[in-house]
Amino acid sequence: MLKRQRLTITGRVQGVGFRPSIYRLATSLNLTGFVQNTTSGVMIEIEGLETELKRFDQQLSANFPPMALVQSVTATSIPAQASQQFQITASERSGQVFVGMPPDLATCPACVAELKDPSNRRFGYPFINCTNCGPRFSIIETLPYDRPHTSMAGFQLCPPCQHEYDDPTNRRFDAQPNACPTCGPQLTYLNQDHHLVQTVDPIAAAVHDLKSGKIVAIKGIGGYHLSCLASHEQAIARLRQRKHRPHKALAVMFQSLDEIDHYCELTTSARNWLSAPCAPIVILKKRQDRGLPSILAPDTFTIGAFLPYAPIHHLLLQHVSPLVMTSANLSDEPIVINEEELTNLLGPIADAALTHNRPILRRADDSVMMLVNQQPVVIRRSRGLVPNPITLPSAGPPLLVCGSDLKNSFGLTKHNQLYLSQHIGDLKDYPAQRFYQEQINDLKQLLQVAPEVIVHDLHPNYLSTHYANEQPMGSKIAVQHHHAHLASCMVEHGLSTPVIGVALDGNGYGADGRLWGGEFFINDLKTYHRRFHFEEMPLIGQAAAMVQPSRMAFAYLATLFPADQAADLTQRWLPDLDQHDQALFRQMLTKQLHTPWTSSAGRLFDAVSALLGFQGKITYEGQAAIQLETMCAPTCEERYQFDLTGDSISFHSMFRQLLIDKDKKTASAIIAAKFHHTVTAAVVAACQQCRNETDINQIVLSGGVFQNKFLLHLCIKGLNKQGFQVYSHQEIPPNDGGLAVGQAAVALASLSQE
Ligand code: ZN
Ligand code: ZN
Ligand code: FE
Repeated sequence: MLKRQRLTITGRVQGVGFRPSIYRLATSLNLTGFVQNTTSGVMIEIEGLETELKRFDQQLSANFPPMALVQSVTATSIPAQASQQFQITASERSGQVFVGMPPDLATCPACVAELKDPSNRRFGYPFINCTNCGPRFSIIETLPYDRPHTSMAGFQLCPPCQHEYDDPTNRRFDAQPNACPTCGPQLTYLNQDHHLVQTVDPIAAAVHDLKSGKIVAIKGIGGYHLSCLASHEQAIARLRQRKHRPHKALAVMFQSLDEIDHYCELTTSARNWLSAPCAPIVILKKRQDRGLPSILAPDTFTIGAFLPYAPIHHLLLQHVSPLVMTSANLSDEPIVINEEELTNLLGPIADAALTHNRPILRRADDSVMMLVNQQPVVIRRSRGLVPNPITLPSAGPPLLVCGSDLKNSFGLTKHNQLYLSQHIGDLKDYPAQRFYQEQINDLKQLLQVAPEVIVHDLHPNYLSTHYANEQPMGSKIAVQHHHAHLASCMVEHGLSTPVIGVALDGNGYGADGRLWGGEFFINDLKTYHRRFHFEEMPLIGQAAAMVQPSRMAFAYLATLFPADQAADLTQRWLPDLDQHDQALFRQMLTKQLHTPWTSSAGRLFDAVSALLGFQGKITYEGQAAIQLETMCAPTCEERYQFDLTGDSISFHSMFRQLLIDKDKKTASAIIAAKFHHTVTAAVVAACQQCRNETDINQIVLSGGVFQNKFLLHLCIKGLNKQGFQVYSHQEIPPNDGGLAVGQAAVALASLSQE
């Protein structure tokens, strides 16, 4: 007897080759019915003999394509219809949009092979893709994900491409961006005057210019890159100068894993992540004397390496490699995605542009991760990872979570799913603010979410807080910055019972209106108790102190020592502060002018970095701390003293001993390492005290300071040694880029309490 079943599958099931694999399975078992994309996922109706239906059910999950991320499968029996064949039918467009949008996927090995095969009709074609790879998030206009709703809508499939697209047995079946040289997008090459360069081979023109030391803007997946030879010091110096980016590390794209292996130390997990479909930038240790100039990353011994992830990269890199590939923008502005925006860069920054006519609808910078103990720690979650949803511990009304003002990333929730946006950037400048508002509207429209509650940081002067308060709709919930950091890490690990939360961070607005940042909480998702914090220090000149580490060192010296001794020490160890600065700072301290107090861990690192030689202003966030980490002698295990009194962790003793070390001309590498070991010991001691008082054994580590790989490694090791269960970040950034996740979890917890 014939039976019929309806299966509803949710999760990331569109744009990943889901329907063809269902088609192949169904036809191999002689079953009839259909499969279609719906606005909530995929629906299958399957009909046949009971034994065959059973086999279908058994084999179903093994036949999910590799890039699918299935969340649920529900089955119901319905009357048989005596259907004659199995079909893939057109998408259904009614109902609520609730579907896992796929992220952009790196070109798959099968497509790379065709790209390099002279007998293939797509030989050398820079837009080759298939059901398993190609652009997704960056080309989707609306859902469901179908060609007319993408930026490929304007390209009419030629007969051979249409045939592939229609043929369920073809690996390009239903590949929405399918294209070939006859019917698809084309490259063009522009000179610095924005004139079209007449050439049949724009790739060759770009290769020629790159080899001669020029800077070329290259249109990729989530935006343009600025590119130049990674071995060409003058070209890199020119790029840095033109882009106003004197020191921050520049990412380097290599043609192959073998080539990366030549220049950098490669572990198995690094290999796996580099060649994953999300193709992130992975921060690797540089091998000595292999010819990569230090100007690529002057503050570190590392390189942000990645592999070609679009066909255009493969075509370029096979002729010229390695290449600097950095987001095309002016300093902190959003990444440039079209020729109109490119006008500000082509000429002033880029000498030429390799561009094309497939529109990019959504900006996405490259994602960045590092590996600690072979585990990934995502530093920037963007292209390739966005918009994979994050599962929250509880469901609730739709939320808009506004994120932080630094490294902003916001989110929208549906039930218990959080859609975290791509990296937006620092909201201080107008272009980033505009990008922020655009993306919020875009994601609301794409997901068809009307937020009922708007969640923001506790800081009254954050732009994201102002944005939240300006919204006429929805009630508002403010979440303390470090509670959100810790909650974001709890979400990753499915923790909801109370933990000991260690948030080492730059600055976040505290519940007492002061600036926090070296925090030890006893917390769950709903509430927190601030058990310990780093001793507060004056932030001389507020924002000015955040960009000038010597101000923090001055503050420590002035607070810890009598005036004449502090003056003498300043003279000796902080040469970039002249008499005038010192007099001014002392006045500001005495009168408490523009000098709020902070328990920030980040500023402690700044102060020590300044005492070890960092002069002047930082040119990017975290620069002084990065130099300090880089300095550390890895084998040194000594440390200084610290004091745990009341609810405060004081580093007075450490500074005294550190200055004695300076007097004795102890190597900076030793002092820097001793400092890291001191902070680690303080973390362990505070956690032990918390455990004694509460019996809690679970530690959560969060906050931007934990991007410091050396410190993170030491803290995990030190805490494990004391028998703690330690949880740190992997997929959600420890920095403010992950803050929205914690904001959502805290808001849902407090809503469920009401
Ligand atoms: Zn492919
Ligand atoms: Zn074609
Ligand atoms: Fe933070």
